[in-house]
Amino acid sequence: MERLDRFMARASAAYYANHDPFRDFTTSPEISQVFGEIPGLWTAVTWELIGRPDPVLLVELGPGRGTLIADALRAIGAVAPAFRAALRLHLVESSPRLRAIQARRLKEGTWHDVLDTVPPGPLLLLANEFLDALPIRQFVRRKDCWMERFVSAGRFVEVEAQPPPPAPLWQGEGEGVVVEFNEAGLALASSVAARCVTHPGAALLLDYGPEASAPGDSLQALRAGHPADPLAAPGTADLTAHVDFAALTRIARDAGAAVWGPVPQGMFLAHLGLFQRTDRLARGQPPARAAALIEAARRLAEPNRMGRLFKALAVGSPGIPPPPGFEA
Ligand code: SAH
Repeated sequence: MERLDRFMARASAAYYANHDPFRDFTTSPEISQVFGEIPGLWTAVTWELIGRPDPVLLVELGPGRGTLIADALRAIGAVAPAFRAALRLHLVESSPRLRAIQARRLKEGTWHDVLDTVPPGPLLLLANEFLDALPIRQFVRRKDCWMERFVSAGRFVEVEAQPPPPAPLWQGEGEGVVVEFNEAGLALASSVAARCVTHPGAALLLDYGPEASAPGDSLQALRAGHPADPLAAPGTADLTAHVDFAALTRIARDAGAAVWGPVPQGMFLAHLGLFQRTDRLARGQPPARAAALIEAARRLAEPNRMGRLFKALAVGSPGIPPPPGFEA
């Protein structure tokens, strides 16, 4: 018997070590190059807002195939040479397999298993669909108590537990309601926030989940693009859960950082020029290629596709102006 988060950590490590995850699901940077260019330019503008520290760490959490950061670096190089020269790339990646793919793609950077080993200093941090891959705990409300979900032989078993944090939020839940707790994600947000308090810095977190903390079992498994049983055959499917943006906001503010958003991904991208840039790229392309570029941008931004459930949240040093896309 294993607590759900430990099961998920083990299953995900096996999955990312042995699979090409991008056969099972498609992430935004793989849909359009503009999805990486926008965060790249976001870091370039935000670098100005935090006082142009030189050197500055550019950190990405969970770079996948390295597509987002490669597109970001190309955009930065084209428009912000001073920032390009000042940045030192650090990548947090636990999968040796994906590290090798990233290294072939990037030709620069220092790799880390965890954020803790990234040296202290001014930083700009990006993470896309990273927090949703971190292990979660789940609690179930039963008549007189809370139970926590463990996994045994492919099924959930419930063990009596303390109330899930933050307890005041979950007082009125009825019989059988599930609430989730992303302990690792919150610890990470707290340490990113703490870094922004001790040094100039900002982070852009892109992920999927509701704006307000909401009960419900959001654990999902994708195997070869199709929903699958998350507890069956550990290590063969991509496991994710909704990110609780309200909880991230609370923990980053508690650590003393400023927080902006979340704003829906579609609004964030459209505000920062997704469609203008896409039109530029489409111009002069054969009609089928131009149509595919525009379709990709719409997939990222339309509310009933990836535009609303996916969100952008920014965390930064207290006192800096709102970063691009988060102006009032
Ligand atoms: N950001 C990429 C990939 C998202 S998939 C994209 O948008 O395409 C999640 C990424 O996080 C993968 O690179 C995976 O190997 C990495 N990852 C997952 N859990 C991790 C952990 N606990 N520590 C470090 N990296 C992790």
